[in-house]
Amino acid sequence: MKAHVKSNAIVTTCGNTKIYSPFFRFNMFCTFLTSTIGPVELEEHYWRTNNWNKMAVWVHVLLFDVDGTLLHSGGAGRRALNEAFEEIFGIPEATKEINLNGLTDAIICKKMFQTHLKRNGTGEEYRGLLRRYVEFLEQAVDESETYTLMPGISALLEVLSNLPDVLLGLGTGNIELGARIKLERSGLNRYFSFGGFGCDAAERASLIEVGFRRGEEAVKTVQPGAKTVRWVIGDTWRDIEAGRACGARVVGVATGGEDRGTLEKAKPDYIFTNFSEPVQLISVLEEARVHLMKSNDLVNYLRS
Ligand SMILES: [Mg+2]
Repeated sequence: MKAHVKSNAIVTTCGNTKIYSPFFRFNMFCTFLTSTIGPVELEEHYWRTNNWNKMAVWVHVLLFDVDGTLLHSGGAGRRALNEAFEEIFGIPEATKEINLNGLTDAIICKKMFQTHLKRNGTGEEYRGLLRRYVEFLEQAVDESETYTLMPGISALLEVLSNLPDVLLGLGTGNIELGARIKLERSGLNRYFSFGGFGCDAAERASLIEVGFRRGEEAVKTVQPGAKTVRWVIGDTWRDIEAGRACGARVVGVATGGEDRGTLEKAKPDYIFTNFSEPVQLISVLEEARVHLMKSNDLVNYLRS
């Protein structure tokens, strides 16, 4: 057995399979690995590679929802949409009767038209509304007094972005420019190089699928032999349902518009009150690594 530690990183070697963990401080977990799978080798140079490591056999592609999961914009999105709609159609507070939770921008626009104009908009009308929306959004986000990141998000993303077998993306009903504006205020864009967005599809499951394919293309480019595990993290039953439709493991977090009980009814694989303890989600990934190392079978894992 060979085991040495130079940092808080771990690479566990078992045959041709490698498992990575940034939390060597999880002494019990490491002890478990050492005692159950034999050879353990810990090497510093696998730590803090560029997001994910070429040697990873399984790469975990995580898509995060934005509103209610990463942040709360303090109503900036709603205000910007209202201002845009009022400027174009002269109708104020047009989103007032609409529950925006988990809806894509395209569906929100459609509901605004149906509610106030009693018709669907044309493609050009929707595009015009969203063009003005993003222009208003920048200022609305800047001026929002209650803009907040959800508990633990900064620490969680920092840890995840340094895991060698994790790729982070967005899975959000926001059009991409809108999502980027919301994330920019807190500097979170740097964690997300790709995603599936409200401008990719009107239905959430479809845009999530687009996001996963982009992530998987990136994985394939860097590590052709790697296999991917899909994950969706979101705050509404719509995130959970869409993730399920895309063959993902789904994680519900009750920081947004739906309480824990509502999320539980949607039967996510995991549910958290918030991410104030980032270690909880990291542990979930550790469980997946152990399971996949043993079975090397994604279908089996998804059923577990
Ligand atoms: Mg949300």
